Amino acid sequence: MNKRRFRSLPDLRNYREHLLSSSRKRHLVSVSAASCGRAAGAVEVIEAFEREIEKRGLEDSVELRVTGCHGFCQFEPDAVIFPEKIFYPNLTPEKVPRVVEDTLIGGKIVPGLVYSEDADGKIFPYLEDLPFLKKQVRRLLDRHFTLDPESLDGYVQHDGFRALEKALFEISPEEVVNLVLASGLRGRGGAGFPTGLKWRLAREAPGEEKYLICNGDEGDPGAYMDRGLMESNPFSIVEGMIIGGYAVGATRGFVYVREEYPLAIERMEKALISAREAGLLGENILGSGFSFQLELVRGAGAFVCGEETALIASIEGRRPFPRQRPPFPVVKGLWGRPTVINNVETWANIPPIIKEGPAWFARVGSPTGRGTKIFSLVGQVRRTGLVEVPLGIRMSEVVEEIGGGPASGKIIKAVQTGGPSGGLLPASRFDLPIDYESLQQAGTIMGSGGLIVIDDSTCIVDLALYYLKFARDESCGQCAPCRLGTARMVDILEKMVDGRGDIEDLNLLERIGRTMKEASLCGLGRTAPNPVLSALRYFREELEKHLIENECPAGVCRALVSYEIDSSKCALCRLCLESCPADGIVEMEDGYLKIDVNICTGCGVCYSVCQDMFSAVRKIPRKKVKVQGE
Ligand code: SF4
Repeated sequence: MNKRRFRSLPDLRNYREHLLSSSRKRHLVSVSAASCGRAAGAVEVIEAFEREIEKRGLEDSVELRVTGCHGFCQFEPDAVIFPEKIFYPNLTPEKVPRVVEDTLIGGKIVPGLVYSEDADGKIFPYLEDLPFLKKQVRRLLDRHFTLDPESLDGYVQHDGFRALEKALFEISPEEVVNLVLASGLRGRGGAGFPTGLKWRLAREAPGEEKYLICNGDEGDPGAYMDRGLMESNPFSIVEGMIIGGYAVGATRGFVYVREEYPLAIERMEKALISAREAGLLGENILGSGFSFQLELVRGAGAFVCGEETALIASIEGRRPFPRQRPPFPVVKGLWGRPTVINNVETWANIPPIIKEGPAWFARVGSPTGRGTKIFSLVGQVRRTGLVEVPLGIRMSEVVEEIGGGPASGKIIKAVQTGGPSGGLLPASRFDLPIDYESLQQAGTIMGSGGLIVIDDSTCIVDLALYYLKFARDESCGQCAPCRLGTARMVDILEKMVDGRGDIEDLNLLERIGRTMKEASLCGLGRTAPNPVLSALRYFREELEKHLIENECPAGVCRALVSYEIDSSKCALCRLCLESCPADGIVEMEDGYLKIDVNICTGCGVCYSVCQDMFSAVRKIPRKKVKVQGE
């Protein structure tokens, strides 16, 4: 932990000069070790590198650096070797000696260990060649390759706190607000409110005491942009908030992180302690006369805390019930004082805007959405991970060019944007630019940046049911439209997947959804029906099939699906027979196997075990088989 204390601007600048002039080693090995990397074995890979570097006596020429999230989810843990920028995906301790021998000592790549596309076996040894990165503009994420998230020295060395220097010593608070306003930055948490305008309102609000909050309560299933930032570059958030405090006249700030993010909490806390010890937080920062305190608050993990008024209640120690707005938090927020709430990515964008200027920031993006946005691209697409792209990029570019399109034999049918609060964008609308307004007009929202790609093996009704159950369980229950509306929608969707639905249910779903949007108190209830309403808008036919024909086109709804064995493909391996928990597979006289539909519960185990080998078990609509008693 850093013990150096910067009492003045020259102190910090001299120290940066000293760090920059220190000799560098010939190679830097950067291993991704955020939560996902650790879960995939990054710690063991780091230990293997340590052992091998020591064994080979390479300590003077190789620096091993534990970094955060590189964004390549399915390639975890990965390592990038600098200065060549050689990329090694899916490392294991067993592969490390080859990398050390061939690359760090021999100066060559290891062809069998670098990234290759399965389709044609072509290899992509260097970072800049990776198809996943081609369309990205990684203004924030690129730093994750080289920053040690726990090192203040590392951050300072990488131009950290230069924006703070400029803000505190070269421009006035009003000018800082004007720079943010001129950049066109809009809140990255979903609502898209202009950040500079929010700051100006807070600055102009009467009152001596003002607060800042960083909303790190990322709760959408499938979204982890903020976790990635907090685990990889926590100092950028700290720096952004100090600048924000100076700009709006706040003296105290809070970083609110959900308890389910232990590594993000650990790294944010370490960053706060380091910044305090270095004199970058606290009284009279760098001798500027400006004082600012920043502390971390752990949230219990309620999705509703993403609502700013619920989050405020949680920090105040109250039950997180959203309240009616206005008054908005910029006027009456935490403990009744003017409060600026921005999400993690918004705060992380502040230092580069101040350092590089608003024109630089606005150089990319769409007319109404400037700059870049980080998305978590997940689901049924070939390449998944954190992607940073200019706002306004087309959905097709993200799904097809960055994500690599569908897995072989599949057809992508939609992207769920914005998590449970968002909706479905069908493949027919993938030419749409990704920005706040375009997605809203298409019936969904950008939200904080979750993009869940779904192919033809996903049932739209089943998906909508999943999201509605989530919203029902996370509703605070305070207002009737949300509490009763989500529960009623779940009932109806459950009937549909069970084959007990009625065509009139579609009108009922629509009416309930529209009422919830109009009458719910907060954003959770107002957006909860979006997955259903967008399904009704774009996938009505699929919904109707469940109700009119008792058929699930994706073959997902258990009550509507049965299985049969295609004898021409069956290899008689008997794996399905041995795996069936209901003993529903029988051997016929000719030795072939058959599924007894009267015993079969539709669990699909036979289908799963056979699919990757022989694909002899196939799904058929349950109505096509004659089941006794049905
Ligand atoms: Fe609570 Fe839902 Fe009402 Fe929001 S809309 S206040 S989450 S019940």
